[in-house]
Amino acid sequence: MDNTLKTIIDNQKDYFDSKKTIDVSFRIALLKSLKIEIEQNENEIQKALNLDLGKSVGESYLTEIAFVYTEIKIALKNIKRWTKRRSVRSSLLNFPSSDYIIAEPYGNTLHISPWNYPFQLSIAPLIGAVAAGNTVLLKPSEYSLNTSAILEKILSKVFDDGFVKVVQGGADVASKLCDFKWDYIFFTGSVNVGKIVAKKAAKYLTPVTLELGGKNPCVIDETASLKVTAKRIVWGKFTNCGQTCIAPDFLIVDNKIKSNLIEEIKNQLVNTYGENPIESNEYGRIINVKHMNYLSSLIEGEKIIFGGNVDIEKKYFQPTLIEIDNLNSKLMEDEIFGPILPIIGYDDFKDVDKIIKKYSHPLALYIFTKNINFGRKFLESYPFGGGAINDTVVHVANDRLPFGGIGQSGMGKYHGESTFKTFSHYKPYLSKPLWIDPPLRYPPFKNKINFLKSLLKRI
Ligand code: NAD
Repeated sequence: MDNTLKTIIDNQKDYFDSKKTIDVSFRIALLKSLKIEIEQNENEIQKALNLDLGKSVGESYLTEIAFVYTEIKIALKNIKRWTKRRSVRSSLLNFPSSDYIIAEPYGNTLHISPWNYPFQLSIAPLIGAVAAGNTVLLKPSEYSLNTSAILEKILSKVFDDGFVKVVQGGADVASKLCDFKWDYIFFTGSVNVGKIVAKKAAKYLTPVTLELGGKNPCVIDETASLKVTAKRIVWGKFTNCGQTCIAPDFLIVDNKIKSNLIEEIKNQLVNTYGENPIESNEYGRIINVKHMNYLSSLIEGEKIIFGGNVDIEKKYFQPTLIEIDNLNSKLMEDEIFGPILPIIGYDDFKDVDKIIKKYSHPLALYIFTKNINFGRKFLESYPFGGGAINDTVVHVANDRLPFGGIGQSGMGKYHGESTFKTFSHYKPYLSKPLWIDPPLRYPPFKNKINFLKSLLKRI
C-alpha cells in the first residue's frame, strides 16, 4: 500500500511542479466542469446519501448539494480578484519601493473527511483548494461508502489524478497518508483523530486545519417565544438525526418555562416527523450499528421524557428527549452526535455560566431570548467556533461568516473566501529601483537616528 500511495503522491508533486495549477483560467474551467458533473450526478448523489444516512431528497439538496453549488459560484465569481497581485503602501524606511502581496498555493494538500455530511464536507474544502491552485488528495470516510464512491466517480471524471485524486480506505490508509510530507492538511472529524493528525503534521511543520466536534450548549431564557424556539431547535438538532457537528448538543432552560418548552418541542417533533418517525421519509438514519450501540448505551437508565425507541438493525433511533438533573450523567461527558436531546433546567443564570465554562470551547453556542442585547453580550463573553441568537446551525449558511472551531473544537476557518485564504500563502515582496539608495539605514548612524525620530513624529 505504501508504494501505491507514494506513486500517487509523487504524481501530484510532479503535477504541482509542472505549474499547471498556477493558470487561473485552468482552475476556472475545472471548477465549471465540476459544477456540471455534480449537476449531472445529482440524482446519484442523493441516492447515495439516502443509502448511507437515509437523507431525504429535500434534506440532501438543502444541506449538501446546494451548499456546494454556492461555494463554486462564489469561487468562480471572485477567483480573479482573489488571485490578483495586490499593491500595498510601502514603508518610510524602504522609500522608494513598490510593495505587493500575492496569494500563492501551498502545493500538495491532503483532505480527510467524515461521514455525516460526506458530500459537502469533502467538496467544499476542495473547491477552495483548487481555486487557490493546490493539488488535492481526498480520503473520504469509510463509513459513508456510497457517497465516497460517487465522490470518486465525479472527481476522477473532472480532474487529472495529478490535480485531484480520491483514495478510498479506512483509518489505516488515512494514517499512512498522514505519514507523508504534505504542504497542507485539511482534516474534518473527531477530536481524538484530529490530535493524531496534528501530531503527524508537526513532524514536517505542515500547517493544518482541524474541523472537529464539540458539545454545543443551547440556552433558552424565560423571554424566548416558545413555538418558534422549539421549531428551530428541533430542526437544528434532528436534521440528519443529530449527526451534525454544530447541532445543539444539550439545552439549558430557565425552569420557569421548561415544561412549556418541552411540550412545544414534542409537538414540533410530531409535526415534523409524525407520530412514528420510522415511517417518515424525512427522518434519517444513524450511520452504522456501532454508532447505534453507542447512542443506545447513552440513554440506558436516563429519564426519557419523549422517544427512546430504537431499531438497531434498521439503524433507526427515535428523536429522544431526556431530563437531566446533574452533569454526572454519561450523556454529559462527550459529544452525543445523535438524536438525543438532554434538557437541563436552571434557576439562577450563574449556573448557566458554570455549565458553559465546563464545556469550553464548543464548536457552536446558541441562545434564545427576546433581549437581543443580552444575547449579544452573552455570545461575546465566551470562546466558541460560531453561533447564533434565536436560531441553531444556520450560521453555516452564510459564506461571509468564517466557519471553524477554537481550542478543543479545532483550528482554522473556511467557507467562501475563507477557504481560498486557508489554502493560500499570502506572499509579500517589494521592488526597489537601483538608481537611488538613501543612506538612512546604513551605519555609521551619527545624526541619522535623530533625523529618523523627527521624521517618524511627523507621520
Ligand atoms: P473520525 O475522526 O472518526 O473520522 C474522520 C476521518 O478521519 C475519516 O475519513 C477516517 O477514515 C479518518 N481517520 C480515522 N483514523 C485516522 C487516523 N488515525 N489518522 C488519520 N485519519 C484517520 O470522525 P467521524 O466519525 O467520521 O466524524 C464524526 C466527527 O467529526 C464528530 O466528532 C463531528 O463533530 C466531527 N465533525 C466536525 C465537523 C466540523 O466541521 N467541525 C464536521 C463534521 C463532523
